[in-house]
Amino acid sequence: MPDKSYFAYLECGFCGEKYDPDKLWNLCLKCGKPLLARYDLEAARKTLKTRDLANREPTLWRYRELLPLRDEANRLSLGEGFTPLIRPGRLEREVEHSPIFIKDEGLNPTGSFKARGLCLAVSRALELGVKSLSTPSAGNAACALSAYAALAGLEAHVYMPADVPKPFINECRVLGAQVHLVDGLITDCGKIARSDLEKYGRFDVSTLKEPYRIEGKKTMGYEIAEQLGWNLPDVIIYPTGGGTGLVGMWKAFGELEKLGWIGPGRPRLVTVQSDGCAPMVRAFHQGQEFADPWPGARTIADGLRVPAAVGDFLILRALRESRGTAVAVPDKEILEATYLLGKTTGLWPAPEGGATLAAFLHLKQSGWIRENESVVLFNTGSGAKYSRVWD
Ligand SMILES: *Cc1c(COP(=O)(O)O)cnc(C)c1O
Repeated sequence: MPDKSYFAYLECGFCGEKYDPDKLWNLCLKCGKPLLARYDLEAARKTLKTRDLANREPTLWRYRELLPLRDEANRLSLGEGFTPLIRPGRLEREVEHSPIFIKDEGLNPTGSFKARGLCLAVSRALELGVKSLSTPSAGNAACALSAYAALAGLEAHVYMPADVPKPFINECRVLGAQVHLVDGLITDCGKIARSDLEKYGRFDVSTLKEPYRIEGKKTMGYEIAEQLGWNLPDVIIYPTGGGTGLVGMWKAFGELEKLGWIGPGRPRLVTVQSDGCAPMVRAFHQGQEFADPWPGARTIADGLRVPAAVGDFLILRALRESRGTAVAVPDKEILEATYLLGKTTGLWPAPEGGATLAAFLHLKQSGWIRENESVVLFNTGSGAKYSRVWD
């Protein structure tokens, strides 16, 4: 059975500049945009077959040849990934559409799909000799970083808006992280985190500002394909903040095609944001390559309260190349859809998960989603820590 990683080099997603894959990098030194991991997929195609996966562990590490880790000794695992793709029969009848699938990311360690990204980022940081890690976060990324740093024995510094629900703060503290609370939004957290980086010699694992969180999140694309028997759905609806998962899945589908595991067909990708913070939706419909920052961002879906994303052009590219779209929904509809999702499925969704159902209802109503088209909704996290939303 093949085993080694086919990770070959890093490449800027914007200007194409190449980087040594075995050195520590943040953004592209030439243009300041995100670096992406590239693999020798031609070699992989010759040796790696879908049947090799059959008996592997039910975590994202089942795709180890397509992940950037060099040495198994540095592999950190808390059971992340390979989450269920649920067929919600009662929801399908309620909204009069089938098939619908829900990718339930709430089952990941620390209760959200942030575990996927931080699992890879911290494993690689460990491999490359980092001692101290730092990230701004709306809550879920902070918990995930804290967990993997604890597992690795590395120092974690998390910067969250001071109004983040208490359960996020509690979890980070139990997991041994240094919690920094900031009056402001995640972008303000980012500014303060950045100014501390050099002062204290920490490595920045902000989303898309290092190359490996996206590698963890791309596995959602592999999993959907594998769980559907190497077929893809017609539509994927994704609650977009920094866009790592959306861009990651788009990357994953390209890789799977190069491996010969899927054909050229692609799902139409949909970004959903709250109408209180919808920079990607606005930029998409205005035909822009980059998104202007959203002033006064506010939404109950904390993971979507991201007024500016460093990977904006990658999100917009994926939406356009997939012939997808972008939808903004009011918080009131997000909340209603979250309750509808809960009472028809038995999941306790994060409001970001509810947002995907709210967007679905709009797109179904407008005819953009047609009868019998298969749709994947992403429940990106568990609702359990969003105490403010349910009070
Ligand atoms: C971070 C987060 C998002 C946004 O994810 P991106 O990949 O950064 O766009 C959505 N939902 C939840 C629950 C999150 O924690």
